[in-house]
Amino acid sequence: MSARKSYRIACIPGDGIGKEVIPAGQQVLQALAASQDGLRFEFQSFGWGGDWYREHGEMMPADGLEALRGMDAILFGSAGDPDIPDHVTLWGLRLKICQGFDQYANVRPTRILPGIDAPLKRCAPADLDWVIVRENSEGEYAGVGGRAHQGHPIEVATDVSMMTRAGVERIMRYAFRLAQARPRKLLTVVTKSNAQRHAMVMWDEIAVQVSREFPDVKWDKELVDACTARMVNRPASLDTLVATNLHADILSDLAAALAGSLGIAPTGNIDPERRYPSMFEPIHGSAFDIMGKGLANPVGTFWSCVMLLEHLGERAAAQRLMQAIEAVTADSRLHTRDLGGRAGTAEVTAAVIHRLHPR
Ligand code: ATP
Ligand code: MG
Repeated sequence: MSARKSYRIACIPGDGIGKEVIPAGQQVLQALAASQDGLRFEFQSFGWGGDWYREHGEMMPADGLEALRGMDAILFGSAGDPDIPDHVTLWGLRLKICQGFDQYANVRPTRILPGIDAPLKRCAPADLDWVIVRENSEGEYAGVGGRAHQGHPIEVATDVSMMTRAGVERIMRYAFRLAQARPRKLLTVVTKSNAQRHAMVMWDEIAVQVSREFPDVKWDKELVDACTARMVNRPASLDTLVATNLHADILSDLAAALAGSLGIAPTGNIDPERRYPSMFEPIHGSAFDIMGKGLANPVGTFWSCVMLLEHLGERAAAQRLMQAIEAVTADSRLHTRDLGGRAGTAEVTAAVIHRLHPR
């Protein structure tokens, strides 16, 4: 008998539909624990985000990271509020956690789930399976730069894409290792070294260097612009991709749309060294247009819960949840509006839970 395990999960619903999909994710995880011996979750919720900002002038408390530090994982909804500038919500909460806990690998799987009318189905086999690895700690979003002579005709402003050898080496190594663990052992290194002549050239050099540690991984290099076309025209030629913070941000939104909806796609902000808790979240934002109406698709959150379980080493539970999700997407009566259906958040959640207790 394996020891009874109880995982401490921090839940940060954040703003907008985050407040709807994260409770749905908790319900699904509870149902999973109820149906599997030895698996337990203790949830602790944190009401950070836009409302917290209106009350306290910051998106999360100064000692917020301390409160999260002892957790096994974090389930995050979304940060974004029409009344608060985007860079405040982003830097004040999500990026604070990603950077505070050095979650340097952002991992975004894309598959065409059963029953989903994905734009990509027209050009790809249904078993399309990509993982995009995004550098999550530096690069274009390092926050380096500034403005001078603000408002004057001579005003200058810079956003410096800052890359370190250590930062590039660790994300390359993570991506090669991930590609090596997947059946096709195929990695595409996304670059823009034809136009960006310093950091991206180092990025390319480090790819060559790290590749020598992984002789069994087939890899190639692709310019980011060409990569967007390749995702549409030759999708099956891709498997694992690694790209910088900005490039992967764009490519993964494209991937999510090609797979059918922003509402489905999951992501993990991972500290591969496991010094700190990793954070899992649907890739969609706060979507205030549908907030409070019970219309939000919770599948992106459920799939993020699958990634969370895999990260915790609970592979059987992860597999069971993924099967329940796929059984639900396969039934078009259980599609939410973003997928062209009429089901609501509660109905989809109940259907997934039902499939976790088939008897
Ligand atoms: P943010 O500013 O926080 O990024 P947003 O308003 O830009 O939020 P997104 O979540 O990025 O919204 O998504 C864009 C649109 O896609 C939304 O306005 C919404 O209509 C739709 N959408 C996103 N996520 C979902 C979901 N889970 N279920 C249904 N529709 C969704
Ligand atoms: Mg958005």
